[in-house]
Amino acid sequence: MKLRKLSLIMCLVLLMSLFTACSGNEETQQPLQWVSHTATGFKVYKEGVFFVDKNGILQYFDAASKKTVVLCDKKDCQHSGKSCHGYIGSAYSYNVSGGKIYTLNDEDSLYTLIESDIDFTNHKETVTLGKELSEEGFYIDPMRPLVSGDYIYYVTEVSNFNTGESYYGIYGANLKTGKEATIIDHMEQGTLDIVSVCDSEIIYFTSYLDKELSNEIYGSIPNELDFEEYSKKFKEYEEQRTYRTYKYNIETGETKVLYENKAAALPVFADENYLYAYTYTVYEATQSFVPDRYFTVDLKTQEEKTIGKDEFEKKQRGFSESEADAITGGSEDLVIYCLTDSGYIGTRTDKKVPTGENSYTITGQSYVLIDKNNPQSEPFAFYSWED
Ligand SMILES: [Zn+2]
Repeated sequence: MKLRKLSLIMCLVLLMSLFTACSGNEETQQPLQWVSHTATGFKVYKEGVFFVDKNGILQYFDAASKKTVVLCDKKDCQHSGKSCHGYIGSAYSYNVSGGKIYTLNDEDSLYTLIESDIDFTNHKETVTLGKELSEEGFYIDPMRPLVSGDYIYYVTEVSNFNTGESYYGIYGANLKTGKEATIIDHMEQGTLDIVSVCDSEIIYFTSYLDKELSNEIYGSIPNELDFEEYSKKFKEYEEQRTYRTYKYNIETGETKVLYENKAAALPVFADENYLYAYTYTVYEATQSFVPDRYFTVDLKTQEEKTIGKDEFEKKQRGFSESEADAITGGSEDLVIYCLTDSGYIGTRTDKKVPTGENSYTITGQSYVLIDKNNPQSEPFAFYSWED
């Protein structure tokens, strides 16, 4: 009992020392950065990362001190179920912005954005999404919302309660005023997505290719088809795509087309000056789609410039694929996801159970920190679990 109490106090002290800086002005005075979806549940914050553990509970790993904190202030909690105050559910459902944590609360088909302090306490309801649509008989199902500054943006399917008819749209809302905005709506599934957002600005794209043509080239690449023939067809069909990447200001309503109707191009992320994108092609050896040219678009002048693969990757996540390969030695048991001031954050496979001659199931894994200055040293495991 004594021990537990002590550890709770230790945790709180650690939390306070980790997060005291955030309540000051330091955070708010920094200019907002453009944010995009990440493929992992890690969110780099200050010297470390937020992550969601195996039980759906939010934790923070401070890479500088190598300390991990479960973001739960419940006394004597085992941190294992929904009753834990750190419970967050899906690894992709939370945002960290401006020294606050944001989660969505779903009740009666209405989604309310909850703002919490950086230690995941002091929960406060902000804007309710899809309110106007629900008054017209529709309901929404927001996917991977992005929060930046006073705004939230999301892609959603919008469905009618009675008729079942549905369409897709991108919406935004002001957290302070609760005002909702339709950025684009009445689109088909898979024809739109958010690229990056920054405060009142959003970059998104719409893309449309005739369904039959699309199925023909994006269905599985048929083995019997001559590759050259296929490759030619792919280019021909992709030329017919109608396509636009926009920058839109939710406050002023100002829209800029950053580029349009470029065959087989995908915008990926943006920073304060440039949009980063690539064009892709079919790769014969693996019969898959691979980037073949990386480029930037100047957000002010819309001028386009080709850049290298390493530069693109470094801008996107702080390190290039070749750097990561040099560190992991190409091992499939170590995957690097992001970079903090102290080192690389990744996943290590600890235990495998063979299920056949060339197959296995992963049964033990760890989230690890790899020392930036000594990447060949043993990674530090800050969270381990077994299935
Ligand atoms: Zn707990």
